[in-house]
Amino acid sequence: MESIVANNCTIHFNNTCYSSINKHLKENNFSKIFILVDENTHQYCLPRFIEKLETNIAIEIIEIESGEINKTIETCVGVWNTLSELNADRKSLLINIGGGVITDLGGFVACTFKRGIAYVNVPTTLLSMVDASVGGKTGVDLGHLKNQIGVISNPDLVLIDTQFLHTLPQNQMRSGLAEMLKHGLISNEGYWNKFQELSNLTLKDLDTLIHESVMIKKHVVDVDPFENGLRKTLNFGHTLGHAIESYFLSNPNKTPLLHGEAIVIGMILACYISTELVGFPMELTSSIKSLFVDYYGKVSIEESEYSAIMELLKYDKKNNHGNINFVLLEGIGKHKIDCLVDDAVIIDAFKFYAS
Ligand code: NAD
Ligand code: ZN
Repeated sequence: MESIVANNCTIHFNNTCYSSINKHLKENNFSKIFILVDENTHQYCLPRFIEKLETNIAIEIIEIESGEINKTIETCVGVWNTLSELNADRKSLLINIGGGVITDLGGFVACTFKRGIAYVNVPTTLLSMVDASVGGKTGVDLGHLKNQIGVISNPDLVLIDTQFLHTLPQNQMRSGLAEMLKHGLISNEGYWNKFQELSNLTLKDLDTLIHESVMIKKHVVDVDPFENGLRKTLNFGHTLGHAIESYFLSNPNKTPLLHGEAIVIGMILACYISTELVGFPMELTSSIKSLFVDYYGKVSIEESEYSAIMELLKYDKKNNHGNINFVLLEGIGKHKIDCLVDDAVIIDAFKFYAS
């Protein structure tokens, strides 16, 4: 699969990953290599990666605990301290091997340690391959506020080796797939149509679909790096999706949803709202709902919970001057940004999902 150049960072796929990292190591005079992993990527991904490295440079492994709960400045302090104790200098290289938590946090650690050292991202979840790998967002959470602290910066290289997906749990696969479905809905019908038989997708099909998804995200980020227009479309399904995700996370009676599982519900709601307000065909909304519900199942959200979820919309960080802005669709690939939506339509959308 062809490599993709995004800004001054190249994204390599499968075999090319290892020739390019080995070339990078040869061409740059790195003093030491640090590899950041969590306990899962340490076990499942690191051995394969190390085996492919051809270098005499000393390698140190730094492991942090997995999970969003650890995507904090405290974890960064731990990694900065370890780097310091192990004599990392400005010519050191940090390689982040893991999901979005590791690549976001590791990217931030690298950008800030000694005012910035070189780093390479190796995304190992489907979500981090198709979403976190492009766009240069790095950072950590501040208490309950997601991604509040961070910088925009690009790694030297991104290496997407889809073999890593073999050990990824099914629910994490489904969560990442949600972002790919979103890429189809917001950008092009041809790509969207490839997802009509979700349960029949093989890992081999996935390879080309992942490449295409990365191209779509790269295009969006290239056209609108500062999120003034087109990049906002990546937020499709996320306005209500984030509120649902937070509601389920903070409510002890609910089983928390993975990000993509909440976004799938948000996308069904956004399709319904699009039908009501901007003429997205009802047949499409219905077929999207049945495709998503067949594959992801239906999550129970009672009428009595709608208002608590809608209350959370106020905290969406993409709000502007107190307005809650939705991305809607007039058709597949035909988006409309900055749409205001009345509460009554949102309630109808929840009822449609439940029906
Ligand atoms: P994650 O990093 O928490 O990984 C999910 C789980 O899978 C973890 O337990 C991890 O240890 C495990 N894992 C990772 N690779 C594995 C493998 N190959 N085999 C087995 N287990 C494996 O979650 P995620 O969904 O990858 O990323 C979510 C994070 O990404 C969030 O913090 C989000 O804010 C961030 N994100 C960033 C961007 C961006 O543009 N920078 C975009 C989207 C999401
Ligand atoms: Zn998302």
